[in-house]
Amino acid sequence: MKRRDFLTATAVGATAIVLQGCHRAEEETPKDKAVNVNKGKKVTLKLATSWPAHFPIMGTGVDRFAARCGEMSGGTLEIKVFAKNILVPALQVFDATSAAQIDAFHSGVYYWKGKNPAFSIFGGMPLGLTSEEMITWMKFGGGYDLWRELYGRFNLYPLVGGTTGPQMGGWFKKEITSLEDLKGLKMRIPGLGGEIMQRLGVNPVLLPAGEIFTSLERGTIDATEWVGPALDKMMGFDKAAPYYYTGWHEPGSILEVTFNKARWEKLSSEHQAIITAATEEMTAQMLQEFRYENAKAFRDLPEHVQIRTFPAEVIEAATAALKEVLSEQSVKNEDFKRVLESYQAFYRLNQPWDEISTKNFLDIRG
Ligand code: CA
Repeated sequence: MKRRDFLTATAVGATAIVLQGCHRAEEETPKDKAVNVNKGKKVTLKLATSWPAHFPIMGTGVDRFAARCGEMSGGTLEIKVFAKNILVPALQVFDATSAAQIDAFHSGVYYWKGKNPAFSIFGGMPLGLTSEEMITWMKFGGGYDLWRELYGRFNLYPLVGGTTGPQMGGWFKKEITSLEDLKGLKMRIPGLGGEIMQRLGVNPVLLPAGEIFTSLERGTIDATEWVGPALDKMMGFDKAAPYYYTGWHEPGSILEVTFNKARWEKLSSEHQAIITAATEEMTAQMLQEFRYENAKAFRDLPEHVQIRTFPAEVIEAATAALKEVLSEQSVKNEDFKRVLESYQAFYRLNQPWDEISTKNFLDIRG
């Protein structure tokens, strides 16, 4: 096509689009118009994570999510994933997305309790709901409505973006046979779990991932929790602390894919639906992958590893400490109280049925 022909064709095409646009405007509501303006247009979004590039299960999960958004949209939705510290530091992804410096982030909800203590409930609670229960509360029990309302104040729109399944209670250098044995121990354990451990006499320590093994090996700390066998084995903790305790503090931690709210609202309804579907797929797949990889890694634990469960008095004391923390926070913070009430209402609804269905079945399956 000669240049002049091209210009003419473009002009005719543009006129046709303008006329078509006028005609359409008469028939459709403003909302439909907004959706169709973006339809078919390529959109590129920048998403930063709190993980190293392609970190197993969490990082590869968000890579797959981005690829699925591309596939499902026929290439019109491109999500560029940036590992931690490339665009923004790992724990500044929340602020950067809130300020629209980036479009979205993938991280753990428990990191943001300093923004609002109520956020810690959306991230998962010690001795609380499992991953599957958390997702059910979000979708059917009102969790999402509250989460989106509270994140809305930070100009954010959150979606569940994976979950870890039940985590292990951590690696200890010495066996814990009583509550007394915990007193004075230094343990790397973040979040609400750490706060409870502190009330049981433990000194909770925060350490960057790269320093945990050396600190444990040198005895600077006496214990650490991490995730579960699949990810723990890469850290080599068994070589420094042979007692591996079953979990109580992170029964269902929630990860998130969170968008800048204004950016989210500008996306077409088609792209919003694709992202929503891709996060649901990501969450299911991450839970399945954690289950499978943990099962294999558990089977293959070295022989010197001693699996232990905390003594009943430790769990009783942890339960009492959790109750204290929850009632203290509820008095101090109205949001915390509201979210906790919704969470507990779901627990009370679900628990009797879960006892009869899942728990009973697992007991008789043997
Ligand atoms: Ca953990």
